[in-house]
Amino acid sequence: MITKRRLNKMGKITLAIIIMLGLSIIFFLTRKYTKNEMHILKMTEKYQIKIDYPITHQKKLDKQIKEYITLEKEKFLNTVNLKIPVEESQKYELVIGYQLVKQQDSNKTVHYHIHFESYTYLGENQYIRNDKTFHYDSKNKKNLSINDYLEESKALDKLSILSYYYMMQHIEENSLELDENIIKQVTTIEYDNYEHFFLKNEGLELLLPLYKISAEHDEVIKIIIPIKEINQLLKKQYKIVENEKRKEPIISKKRDISKFKDKKLIAFTFDDGPSAITTNQLLDGLKQYNANVTFFVLGNRVEANQNILKRAYQEGHEIGSHTYNHRNLLLLNNYARIQEIKETNQAIENIIGEKPTLLRPPYGNINEETKKISNMHIIEWGIDTLDWKTKDKELIAKRIVDNAYDGAIVLLHDIYEPSVEGALLAMERLEQEGYAFVTISEMAQLKNVELDYTTLYRQFN
Ligand code: ZN
Repeated sequence: MITKRRLNKMGKITLAIIIMLGLSIIFFLTRKYTKNEMHILKMTEKYQIKIDYPITHQKKLDKQIKEYITLEKEKFLNTVNLKIPVEESQKYELVIGYQLVKQQDSNKTVHYHIHFESYTYLGENQYIRNDKTFHYDSKNKKNLSINDYLEESKALDKLSILSYYYMMQHIEENSLELDENIIKQVTTIEYDNYEHFFLKNEGLELLLPLYKISAEHDEVIKIIIPIKEINQLLKKQYKIVENEKRKEPIISKKRDISKFKDKKLIAFTFDDGPSAITTNQLLDGLKQYNANVTFFVLGNRVEANQNILKRAYQEGHEIGSHTYNHRNLLLLNNYARIQEIKETNQAIENIIGEKPTLLRPPYGNINEETKKISNMHIIEWGIDTLDWKTKDKELIAKRIVDNAYDGAIVLLHDIYEPSVEGALLAMERLEQEGYAFVTISEMAQLKNVELDYTTLYRQFN
């Protein structure tokens, strides 16, 4: 009897261990699986690297992406290592951001269109742009080009004519001044011109690379060829099915802030997002502390993460701009600067129905001219958590709590899990010290500050 009972007990323990092991393996795998993005941020005295890239969980595609990113990084570092140090605001720079569009064809095969914008700054006027786009058929596991999507060889001729037409329309609408020759060159049937595109619900979005044609330009021109026209050129299985999307207006929850009048106030701000996983995690956590925060989002991430942006806005958080590509604004010409700001405001308005009024320039770098161009309120910070560097939730929380004061603006990044956890930990502690957590606009209102267009706001007190 005794032995039997013992065995039973042993059996139970073994079973429990097996279950626990199983659960942790599942937990580990799903965690690994849900990771959908990588972020690299490196700042030294000489240079800064900021790279975002997706993890698609398509083995072959992810390998190519990794190779591309590694090569860009190596090229940059090899060149920069030979260069002399420069002053702080003119550091050498490598910035790579991306946009991913997943589209299903009529055979239910998912196609990945991933466009990388890569900018390298090597001092003086040496700005090198080197974009790369992957079009990946996930069923046949192979890369496609524009020709694979078009019905017959003549279709590229027709696409070239359409591109020219929509390019002219775009130029007129935006009153751009562009040399006729450049327009012709960038829309000829050269394959290079049609490397960067997305098949989207609205049509074919083409990114025409002016930077390849003319040294004076470092941009692409984005045009959309509408469904009814592009469908005539696409192979049967790739024709875009029109789906009527009803655009429901989104309403931001307003709250009564008069109850915070006697509280110490602190504004948590989160840059570089939104991010599907970590921003959601943050939004869940903020409810517990009755906290509203400010997100300075990157324009190139807005469309792909629109649901999370909508959620943040609906729940009463404030949405500001952190520019489109996270480039150092001080190094750009006026046209590129305007694009960085304008495109972001447009991308945000497309999703939440309202343009942002707050701008946080990347690295906090901005000059008088850009301030004037932007016509936005410039928000910097008073407490730098260095979260991107330490990636340690305890350290991040400690830095915030130790440095907290009434009217402070805290800088964080909602693309890293330790930042999100650290912010929530800090809130738990600060709440006990009598702090309330408000957005920048709420803070300004409560402190009776009317935001202007010349001040760099680092705190409110
Ligand atoms: Zn940033």
